[in-house]
Amino acid sequence: MSEVLFLGTGNAFSPPGRMHALALIDREILIDSPPTALPQLRIAGVSPSDLNHLLFTHWHADHTFGFPFLLLDRDKMGAINGKKGPLSVHCRPGGYDVLSELCRIGFPGSLDNEIKKGVAWDHAESGHLSGTNWRFERFPVSHTPETDPHGYKLSHESGFCMVHCGDSGPCQKIEEMTQDSDVVIIEMGVPDFVNSPHHHNPTDVIEFWRRHPEVQILVTHNFSKSPNSNHGFEIPELPEEIIQLKDGDRLFVKENGSFSVNI
Ligand SMILES: [Zn+2]
Ligand SMILES: [Zn+2]
Repeated sequence: MSEVLFLGTGNAFSPPGRMHALALIDREILIDSPPTALPQLRIAGVSPSDLNHLLFTHWHADHTFGFPFLLLDRDKMGAINGKKGPLSVHCRPGGYDVLSELCRIGFPGSLDNEIKKGVAWDHAESGHLSGTNWRFERFPVSHTPETDPHGYKLSHESGFCMVHCGDSGPCQKIEEMTQDSDVVIIEMGVPDFVNSPHHHNPTDVIEFWRRHPEVQILVTHNFSKSPNSNHGFEIPELPEEIIQLKDGDRLFVKENGSFSVNI
């Protein structure tokens, strides 16, 4: 069985009760690295040394600023925590420059070796995630253009398929990728009163669900408070078929390709 653990489900403002959106697959594949990626992994009992793959969606800080902390931990604590091989970082061309600069600003001089020898940089747009049951395909989405925004289609060897939209407004490419997928993880970064083509709002999510009623929609990167918080934006009312994830929720994928959430 495979597992997607949602270590955070909040947008860039980290709303009450939600940490920045972060998904961990099978305790070894991370999608993005928000500023608090390290403590988010700690909560799950996962060490950065356990990670084998890191997939980046785009260059906004709520998706990248934890990267230097992950490398620092792997470099300095790796021998203690059982680090095996290099971390495969899958990102767009130009990602090396962005992420190595981030490391130099964060920990000047300390991560030069880890950036070069501790990371296997992969700019391919699709491929097998070595040592895992997953393949990926990267596709462009509609978000702040300067961040080179992309989503991922992730295919499991069982036949299960999910789309991770990264951070995006409605766009044709997401529609295409959704066609033969079981699950779509969609960000809902802004409330309805914010007019932004670069994010989904609740109305966008409902319209997406109407176009794709056969797909399980999991909402993350949520602008609203968590269910057990008493301040922040109220949780929008969406059709009950749409699941608004909470931090700590889990998606399970079984060998036959069927899936469940929290069960
Ligand atoms: Zn974001
Ligand atoms: Zn973003």
